[in-house]
Amino acid sequence: MTAPIVLTIAGSDPSGGAGIQADLRAIAALGAHGLCAVTALTSQNSAGVHSVFVTPPEILASQLESILADTRPDAVKIGMLGGADQVEVVARSIQKYELTNVVLDPVLASTAGVPLLDLEGKSALIRALLSRCAVATPNLQEAQALTGIAIESEEDAARAGYALLYLGSPAALVTGGHFAEEPQDVLVTAGGAHTLRGERVHTRHTHGTGCLFSTALATHLAFGLDLREAAAHAKDFVARSLRNPVVIGKGRGYPS
Ligand code: PLP
Repeated sequence: MTAPIVLTIAGSDPSGGAGIQADLRAIAALGAHGLCAVTALTSQNSAGVHSVFVTPPEILASQLESILADTRPDAVKIGMLGGADQVEVVARSIQKYELTNVVLDPVLASTAGVPLLDLEGKSALIRALLSRCAVATPNLQEAQALTGIAIESEEDAARAGYALLYLGSPAALVTGGHFAEEPQDVLVTAGGAHTLRGERVHTRHTHGTGCLFSTALATHLAFGLDLREAAAHAKDFVARSLRNPVVIGKGRGYPS
């Protein structure tokens, strides 16, 4: 049996911690084969993001067309998108190639607060992408920004998850790594809300953790697991990676 194929549509992080570099690392570590379409060239290191050059939408469209006319991925992870035009390009590709197992990580800003998607891009993402993915994986800040619901508890996270379903997403996994106590994630589907509990790994080397999680989730879906199993495995994968950080630079390193 050949390894499943996972396509990541994401930005480049030259320091290796986040974006396509993290995604391809996770896909390979889990035994699948990675393809990538690059949405932006960021300049960043362990201390923060310095600049962002957004791939022209027609070049993103061309990358996707080259890949998808030739190969059918078993799952797709969508990470950083650089604007409404890119959102539309990705939505058209999903529709044209009837892509399934699409995991949408709605990246809006870096942890330090550098905006990575503007307001117009955010509304395009809600309008054109949420309903075309299998699951959206916002962290607490992203879930809050997409739904307007302030999240301070597991119940709030579930409410935000239901709001994302109302906005069109078939499922929402609100990741709770930023909760003060336990890092519980809340998976909401039409069948109800389910909390995935985990032990906190105490580390400051967390750069790109969200990228790793959404990609691990897509990869487990590509292997044929159902959403709940895939989410539990992705959570374990991230916890293991956080326990073995790559400590580089003067700022935050990243999970291996
Ligand atoms: N750079 C890229 C290309 C990303 O995709 C992301 C997040 O998804 C980030 C930076 C932000 O990483 P962090 O949240 O660790 O700052």
